[in-house]
Amino acid sequence: MGKSLWQQDKPGGENSRQEMLSSLPWQHEIFELVYDAIVLYDLQDRIIAWNRSAEDLYGWSAQEAIGQNIHNLLKTHRSATEGEGQELFTEKALFASELIRTHKDGREVNVESRQKFILNEVGQLVAILEANRDITARKQIEEALKEQIRFAMTAGEIGLWSWNISKDQTGAANVNTTSLLGLPAGTTLSYEQFMDLVHPDDRQRVMQSVQDALAQRTDLAYEFRVVLPNNDLRWLSSRGRVFYDKQGRPVNLVGVVLDISERKRSEEVLNEANARVTSILESITDAFCHLDTDWHYTYANRHIEELTGRSREELLGKRIWDIFPEFIGTVFEQKAREAMATRQAMQFEFFLESTRQYFSIHLYPTESGISIYFNDISEFVQVKTALLESEARFRRLVQSNIVGVVTADLEGNVIEANEAFLTMLGFTHEDLASKSLNWQKLTPPEYRAVDEQAMRELGISGICKPYEKEYVTGQGRRLPVLVAGALMDTTSNICVAVAVDMTAQKELEKQKETLMSIVSHELRTPLTAINGTVQLAQRRLQRFLKAAHELPSETEEIIQNTLQLLAQSIRQTRMQNRLINDLLDVSRIATDKLELLLQPYDLLQIVREAVEDLRYSETDHRIELLLPAQDAVLVRADEGRVGQVVANYVTNALKYSSSGTPVIVEITVEDTEARVWVRDQGPGLSPEVQSRIWDRFYRVATVKDQQQSGVNLGLGLYICQVLIERQHGKVGVESVQGEGSSFWFSLPLAQG
Ligand code: ADP
Repeated sequence: MGKSLWQQDKPGGENSRQEMLSSLPWQHEIFELVYDAIVLYDLQDRIIAWNRSAEDLYGWSAQEAIGQNIHNLLKTHRSATEGEGQELFTEKALFASELIRTHKDGREVNVESRQKFILNEVGQLVAILEANRDITARKQIEEALKEQIRFAMTAGEIGLWSWNISKDQTGAANVNTTSLLGLPAGTTLSYEQFMDLVHPDDRQRVMQSVQDALAQRTDLAYEFRVVLPNNDLRWLSSRGRVFYDKQGRPVNLVGVVLDISERKRSEEVLNEANARVTSILESITDAFCHLDTDWHYTYANRHIEELTGRSREELLGKRIWDIFPEFIGTVFEQKAREAMATRQAMQFEFFLESTRQYFSIHLYPTESGISIYFNDISEFVQVKTALLESEARFRRLVQSNIVGVVTADLEGNVIEANEAFLTMLGFTHEDLASKSLNWQKLTPPEYRAVDEQAMRELGISGICKPYEKEYVTGQGRRLPVLVAGALMDTTSNICVAVAVDMTAQKELEKQKETLMSIVSHELRTPLTAINGTVQLAQRRLQRFLKAAHELPSETEEIIQNTLQLLAQSIRQTRMQNRLINDLLDVSRIATDKLELLLQPYDLLQIVREAVEDLRYSETDHRIELLLPAQDAVLVRADEGRVGQVVANYVTNALKYSSSGTPVIVEITVEDTEARVWVRDQGPGLSPEVQSRIWDRFYRVATVKDQQQSGVNLGLGLYICQVLIERQHGKVGVESVQGEGSSFWFSLPLAQG
């Protein structure tokens, strides 16, 4: 640029521009060619030169612009967001700044303006050369971005902070940071003050990560809790970057901080939920596992271990097909692969041949693989099979017509009945179809009460135990039956009942009763007669012996022998009598016909009389009687039956202990009961035998009947037990083998 250009006082107009450039034709070319808007103006801000790009940028032609005050023409002002013009390349006196100017049409234009001072040869400033570039579009984007960031920071509770390391001050860069820390806006903190706010548990970690970042020249990232003034805790996440000076010393730390309490809470909730899910998975009775898409175990609950016998360590990370090759080629493999491929959930039952187990399997494809629930239902299948079998058996039973089977409602209306039931009652399938059959109407009035009792039982427990009753058949005949019933299910009022025709049994019972009366009368009567006759013969002979004098010794010996034979006959008839009585008792017990008459009696007297009787015919043993001090011991009992028990105990004691040993009968009285003891010095009984001697027909093979009565059926103690229990008492024995036995029975004391 030649000095002549700047000697003009008042440069301006197209002419001067042309003048200035005409001497430098190639410079003019460049001037017009560049994309930047080039403006040259003097110290009074008057425009000297104005290229084509300037015309484009500002709308004013060179003609209009030259000579005008540039700042008036373009209404220049600095961009609001820009601070002081940034000084670049000061040594070259070049400035760059962002300016806002106004286009000819009135709209604002953002320009980046680089300015160069033009000096004359003596170094005086004579003009300013500007190169301007349109940055309106970029500015708009920047503004939008800033707005977004500002919005994000307020909306997302993001705070900016910086820490001037050299001054040791962390200045909260925006309002959010201070509010995030729970401090008033504008607070500045030292590093220590900031650390004081950090939760003590997190402090060490935060300090460590700052130190690490400084030492390793990395970015900072840490999460920590701050204690707010109201003692609430807030989770924050901070990220920062360290800036270094030219010597590589850290100068500044700048970062953002974000409230992550919500995320932490969700994490906690999620962790809790996860823990809950895990604990549920651990506690469910189903076995549960998860496999990844390549069939590796990624999770297995405790039941898997139980079910497969493999520990989780053995399973996790392994492929199911490697661990359980027995699954390969099974329905399980086929379904699992199908579920994995189609992403469809599936449920099926599966029988594993190798272990003979049934499984119920649920497959749920997940994003990362497949979840499998399985349950060993072998037991269930067995029950199901058993149920089906029993149902089939029940059907067979119904169809076999061995017993009558009927379903009816609780009003007695028969809904279904098998052949046996219909035949039994003399009805036909047509009668059944006409819905006219009602079992209540077929019941004679005297059985209504037992029926009602049965219905009550059915209502309470759902079943009624077998009971006997009668029906009136279609032909008007009485039909004895045994019936039992059950409700179909707990909620229904339909019951199923079985009925067994008891005609034959009743007939048998009748015959048995007849037999019993024959036994009792036809057998016992002659026996009593024999007994009487023998006793008469005995007495006559004894009288004859007393009256006769000096009988020949031979005759006397014959008479004495005969008397002994007669005594033996009496003993045998008595045995016979006892035997008949025992048989009758057993049959009465079996047919529930044993009748007792309980009345207040003096137990002392009953025992005394029984013992007297036995003493009368007993010669081999001494029978001792030990009675309590009181005059009487009242019990509610059947006198004869108690006497029978005493006699039985004592007879056994006499029978099974060697002659000459005493038998002691003792009565003791306690608070609420009296006890009769019969003690012998016989062979005694082992504990095992003690518990069995009360059974019907039980006899101890090793115990010898010393009297060889020949009528030991093993019924006596059984009858004694039944008799005493029917009188609300108890029986028992205390014995040591080889040391005798003490049989006892107790009866409750009568009130008053
Ligand atoms: P049985 O008519 O055979 O005596 P019991 O029922 O009275 O029938 O007795 C059952 C069995 O108990 C007897 O066969 C005998 O083996 C045994 N037994 C009963 N009493 C005594 C006793 N006092 N000492 C030893 N064994 C006894």
